[in-house]
Amino acid sequence: KEFVRRPLIAGNWKMNMDHVQGITLLQKLEWTLDDAKHDFKRVEVAVFPPFTDLRGVQTLVAGDDLDVVYGAQDLSPFDEGAYTGDISGQFLSRLGCSYVLVGHSERRSIHGESNEVVASKLAAALKHSLTPILCVGEGLEVRQSGEHVAFTVQQLRESLEGYPASAAEKLVVAYEPVWAIGTGEVAGPEDAQEMASALRAELVELFGEAAGESVRVLYGGSVKAANAAALMQEKDVDGLLVGGASLDAGEFANIVRFEK
Ligand code: PGA
Repeated sequence: KEFVRRPLIAGNWKMNMDHVQGITLLQKLEWTLDDAKHDFKRVEVAVFPPFTDLRGVQTLVAGDDLDVVYGAQDLSPFDEGAYTGDISGQFLSRLGCSYVLVGHSERRSIHGESNEVVASKLAAALKHSLTPILCVGEGLEVRQSGEHVAFTVQQLRESLEGYPASAAEKLVVAYEPVWAIGTGEVAGPEDAQEMASALRAELVELFGEAAGESVRVLYGGSVKAANAAALMQEKDVDGLLVGGASLDAGEFANIVRFEK
């Protein structure tokens, strides 16, 4: 497959890897990819460590001139002030983050983030020059009812409420069916394609043809080296958001090298 959009392979470490372990994992990943002569310009690689790792990651990436880029797993909708426990996009930007995950299903379910909250976080990301990766996806019951496309497209539309068309080219969307996250149950490539193309059609509707076609749509949910290539073969799948398998440098490097 010829990629029209630059593929992005993203590793979401979730609440794993403390600031010491995180550095070791990132070093190992970069070395493995360098050894394999990975072309980072062709396939972009990003990791999403816990907040407490980010300062160390910044120092390592800048000091050793790493090619892997990084981001945070969440951000506050606010800039600064009396918001105990929140982390501002402004701080993330100063720590050299390129990306930020917004609306991951674990934030939506465990922390009750609504589409409205997600929309305000997208606005904060843009304000602080972070590229948001907006996560959407249906749960098992919705999938079984056959309403998964309508549900997820609506989640996308509501999460993008107020998002400016002028920033559409910056946006990344990740389709992560909740029933496939951390379960070993991977959506089939044709399921990933079905949703990616429906999401893209909605993006074109919202932002116009050129902008909609420029948005990268990732798939996430039990991605491993063994299923990465088949998923990436699909026309509208531009990358992968990897949880569990990103905690092993060798396995994640093999996902990054899905073309090999
Ligand atoms: P998983 O997680 O790869 O462990 O299923 C994906 C995610 O939640 O981003």
